[in-house]
Amino acid sequence: MKVPLVDLRPQHDSLRDQLLAAVERVIDKQQFVLGPEVQILEEEIAKYSETSFAVGCASGSDALLLALMALDIGSGDEVITTPFTFFATGSAIVRLGARPVLVDIDPNTYNLDTSRLAAAITSRTRAIIPVHLYGQCTDMASLEAISEQHHLPIVEDAAQAIGAEDRGRRAGSMGAIGCFSFYPSKNLGGAGDGGMLTTNNKNLADRLRRLRAHGGTNEYHHSEVGINSRLDSLQAAVLRVKLKFLDRWSAARRNKASRYSDLLLETSVLEFEVIPPFVRPEARHVFHQYVVRISRYRDAMMKHLLDQGVGTKVYYPVPLHLQQCFSNLGYHEGDFPESERAARETFALPIYPELTDQQQSYVIETLRSFRPDPLATH
Ligand SMILES: *Cc1c(COP(=O)(O)O)cnc(C)c1O
Repeated sequence: MKVPLVDLRPQHDSLRDQLLAAVERVIDKQQFVLGPEVQILEEEIAKYSETSFAVGCASGSDALLLALMALDIGSGDEVITTPFTFFATGSAIVRLGARPVLVDIDPNTYNLDTSRLAAAITSRTRAIIPVHLYGQCTDMASLEAISEQHHLPIVEDAAQAIGAEDRGRRAGSMGAIGCFSFYPSKNLGGAGDGGMLTTNNKNLADRLRRLRAHGGTNEYHHSEVGINSRLDSLQAAVLRVKLKFLDRWSAARRNKASRYSDLLLETSVLEFEVIPPFVRPEARHVFHQYVVRISRYRDAMMKHLLDQGVGTKVYYPVPLHLQQCFSNLGYHEGDFPESERAARETFALPIYPELTDQQQSYVIETLRSFRPDPLATH
């Protein structure tokens, strides 16, 4: 049996006719960039995320960049985020000439440890970017208490967390601006790159609309320098087909995750223990990834799974502070021990809405059949 880490084919097979009709509609209309499809998707995403406004853009990475631009982040500013995230969270800060100030993660949730946040704030801090990693929201109540006290806007990196909730509030609705990605393998994925910003602030929404189109107020008149980061109509049309199914897919992901976690409890008696993800009781987790921890033998376990046809991957093997291009920030190995440990000890198992029970059982059987080499160190 083969169980890929992610397989988009069953989803696309079941939606094939609707997707092709949506593409045809765009081609017939000849409106390829922004336009009515994008506008309707923006309204639908605003509603889905329980925000007043949504602004489409070219990718999740650009959403982060645009959000920081709209908050006037620039040279000399500091922006706090977590080292255990996808590269784009850090690069958006650096591209604007600002400095990422990193705060280690909570080892249970892998999200920014809010108890360490206050110590990282300086007179130069201008914003905080919590990353809702793997589809589980950061503990926003404690983060908001600190952000309010210091008057710091929050930009949510919700790229992996569309539809996730913290105490009943939707990802992307809790900060000044929320950033989403529609990269094909995300929970809501297009047929290419795409992204979206959400906000409840009309001025920020207007500014984001200008910034994504070269800072233009109207055609060929520019009030400031923006970028070209518009959402394509083709992507919007495809995403509108899929959005209708998102809640069903998220529920399926949660079911698969809870079945995995039940099955994994039985490994605690073996000589290696595979620790399932911790779900905060206040969270509605949408399981973009199902990430487990194994304190030893991680690489050997992954090789064993791959050899038996089970896809696995590490998200993410190199924390931001150890990326070569960020070496000038002056961080060193050992600065963020929980992020470094997570990078060494965690790996993702296959999860997607169409994963079958048989496939899941095979993943767990394969995992249980692993026999560690007692001399191996990891
Ligand atoms: C995917 C992702 C991004 C970037 O989104 P793109 O659409 O690929 O540019 C940013 N942050 C996180 C946490 C992501 O997972």
